Amino acid sequence: MQAASSISMAPTSAAPVAPARPAKSRARMMRQYDLVERVRSYNPDTDEDLLNRAYVYAMKAHGSQTRASGDPYFSHPLEVAAILTDLKLDDATIVAALLHDTIEDTEATRAEIDAVFGQEIGALVEGLTKLKRLELVSREAKQAENLRKLLLAISDDVRVLLIKLADRLHNMRTLEFVPTASRQRIAEETLDIYAPLAGRMGMQEMREELEDLSFKTLDPEAYTVVRQRLDSLAERNRNLIGEIESQLSNDLQKNGLQARVYGRRKQPFSIWTKMQRKSVGFEQLSDIFGFRIVLKDVECCYRALGIVHTTWPVVPGRFKDYISTPKQNDYRSLHTTVIGPGKQRVELQIRTEEMDEIAELGIAAHAFYKDGLGSPTERLKRESSAFAWLRHTIAILSESANPEEFLEHTKLELFHDQVFCFTPKGKLIALPRQANVIDFAYAVHTDVGNSAVGCKINGKFAPLSSELQNGDEVEVLTSDAQSSPPSAWESLAVTGKARAAIRRATRTAVRDQYAGLGRRLVERLFARAKIEYADDKLKGALPRLARASIEDVMAAVGRGEMKASNVARAMYPDYKEERVARYAGKKGVAEKLKSPGGTARNLSAIPIRGINSDLPVKFAPNGGAVPGDRIVGIISPGEGITIYPIQSPALKDFEEQPERWLDVRWDVDESTPQRFPARIQVDNVNEPGSLAQIATVIAEHDGNIDNIHMARRSPDFTELTIDLEVYDLKHLSAIIAQLRAKAVVARVERVNG
Ligand code: MN
Repeated sequence: MQAASSISMAPTSAAPVAPARPAKSRARMMRQYDLVERVRSYNPDTDEDLLNRAYVYAMKAHGSQTRASGDPYFSHPLEVAAILTDLKLDDATIVAALLHDTIEDTEATRAEIDAVFGQEIGALVEGLTKLKRLELVSREAKQAENLRKLLLAISDDVRVLLIKLADRLHNMRTLEFVPTASRQRIAEETLDIYAPLAGRMGMQEMREELEDLSFKTLDPEAYTVVRQRLDSLAERNRNLIGEIESQLSNDLQKNGLQARVYGRRKQPFSIWTKMQRKSVGFEQLSDIFGFRIVLKDVECCYRALGIVHTTWPVVPGRFKDYISTPKQNDYRSLHTTVIGPGKQRVELQIRTEEMDEIAELGIAAHAFYKDGLGSPTERLKRESSAFAWLRHTIAILSESANPEEFLEHTKLELFHDQVFCFTPKGKLIALPRQANVIDFAYAVHTDVGNSAVGCKINGKFAPLSSELQNGDEVEVLTSDAQSSPPSAWESLAVTGKARAAIRRATRTAVRDQYAGLGRRLVERLFARAKIEYADDKLKGALPRLARASIEDVMAAVGRGEMKASNVARAMYPDYKEERVARYAGKKGVAEKLKSPGGTARNLSAIPIRGINSDLPVKFAPNGGAVPGDRIVGIISPGEGITIYPIQSPALKDFEEQPERWLDVRWDVDESTPQRFPARIQVDNVNEPGSLAQIATVIAEHDGNIDNIHMARRSPDFTELTIDLEVYDLKHLSAIIAQLRAKAVVARVERVNG
């Protein structure tokens, strides 16, 4: 390799001489020709001139800057580029890696990088700059938020994320030089975000190294214990490992199969998490070693599996075929466990060279530089379902109002297997197992999900909740009349994408309803008070109401969190509440305001605390509520607040809509007794005068009968449904007890509608 010739294109002033190394740092800094050689080894057509120019440019730009280790700063981008050569990435990625910190940390600008290296590289470097800035500002924010930003930032080009991961890996490798406090934070962030992300992109080596470096930093003691145990077990089993390797390859060879067989030690972090999950130690070979059999093609893989299974006893329940059903991150392999030589359990992974490469390098394996096959990004998009997963994740993010929700969904989806279905036009839709048509509809398009009203599976009408089977062809029927989905769908949907979209759509719909109701209440109050309402005027009063928008104010009024009169006072400080409101607290007077004909009463008439609005309040229509009951308020847009006893089965209907629940309690004034509605059911014996006896008991005990409904259930019994008015729960219980004491009464129960 000729260093001199490869630098001849570079500006002569910057001779790429590696600076002297401080004693502290660990390894010799890579030289310019080393990097070019690495790239050329997998990409003979590499643009050496471009690599050399980037090397010199970055070195000059970082100049005399140093890292925490005392190394020249330039050693960092150079190592990041080197990591990416291990992933065999294209020239643009390697060059962008060399330049990745220049915009942020040096005088370099995007325009200059565009001019010198072209727009593709300029865009990659800018993507990394954005990420770095986000990292700095969001340090305090929650990790979910970081992840969200990270993913959104790479929605343009996945190579930005590959460089970011390499950047993080090098920073983790050199973490020992960083102050302790930030070391912890960086390690946590790596373990929570970057390592799983690398895993989801199929980059297992990257994931394992990130995990182990984090583990070592976060729990040095545990790390040392596991490491030592691992070392001693490996030492003890050294001969056995060699024996298994040679026996496996001999057996395969005898059957005409050429295979590469090797044992691979598991990583301390994965052993540690397994120990914690299953609360077991590790002592067997299979706890610390896995074996790989790598063959030429898929047919050989299955033949090898057959040979292994006929040579050694199989451990039941451990066989998995990820070749016919690959994992979401593109992983393909046959897994099995047998009782091998020395009566040891042996874990085997059987796969082709190509699968092996994808298993280690993941998404990066698709970025191999090949001429005439489109740009690496296009190849990634086309070939990699790992990239599809990232796209899918980004789609969820754009639906989700809050990133914690998103994280919860992502975690759930990690553990699902997949089911593959088709649209009528033959487009493949991959969903987690147990997904139904609702999930399918949202996977096709959010609008399709929101307006879905029915479906056909394989040409036959079926409910939207039907669980999908592999190979189903699904036609979703939509209706323009349905703009938002029923909120109950959220609990039916299996995928995070569908749930987030449903939640968002129903939230918006409910909010719009509340805002509409609030606006009517506000406008009514203004009309009554004969003052002018104008949105502009309210806009000026928003700070006083501590709300961000007019919609927010209206929704708050509609929801009962704010009174319309507060809105009026915020807009017109001189505004005085009108007469009706002044009755609040004087229940005796307010009682007289009870609206004629309906059960709805003015708020001031119902002695309940926790309601701060002008919404009409009423009791549960089928069963009422009485003091002594534990109660909740349910808000119905357009109707008002309904008070239910907590035991009411009707509350089930509102379980999915916590935003409609209002915390309320009784505020009864003992000196001015009031009556409250309750309903009971009485089974009485059909004999003359029995009804009169029941009415008498109720009247004698000061209960008012509001209404009676009779139903003959059998020749001997009549079922009476009686609406009563009583003072409180004690009063009601006394009446029920007296009724039960009557011979003509077979059964009495309170009814909660
Ligand atoms: Mn960096």
